[in-house]
Amino acid sequence: MSEFKLQGSGGYVIAELTDEQAKKADLGVGKLFLAPIGKLESEKMLKYYCKDCETEFANPPKIQIEQQGHEEVADNLVLVERGQYTCEKCSSIIGEYRVFKKNDESGEVGQAKPLS
Ligand SMILES: [Zn+2]
Repeated sequence: MSEFKLQGSGGYVIAELTDEQAKKADLGVGKLFLAPIGKLESEKMLKYYCKDCETEFANPPKIQIEQQGHEEVADNLVLVERGQYTCEKCSSIIGEYRVFKKNDESGEVGQAKPLS
């Protein structure tokens, strides 16, 4: 596990990621992004920066679940949860997440896996 800086729309999050998560976050433009990873657990997020507060906080952002369900977004791809990481002080959105599942797998895609 290493620490990475993950860009969101309203700031960034410093989080511990597995190699697999880091690969997902890397869109090939020299930065890592929050959105492609799926949902991060609070324990994995160490710090965040809020653009509105212009402050780096030494704790995880809040997680706001916006929707949970079973929405088929493409062949064999189901959106099961989406939500946001928000600033604990001003409640602005730091970044967003989406959790997907594939129908033909047993539900591990996009979810946090135990440490190997
Ligand atoms: Zn803020």
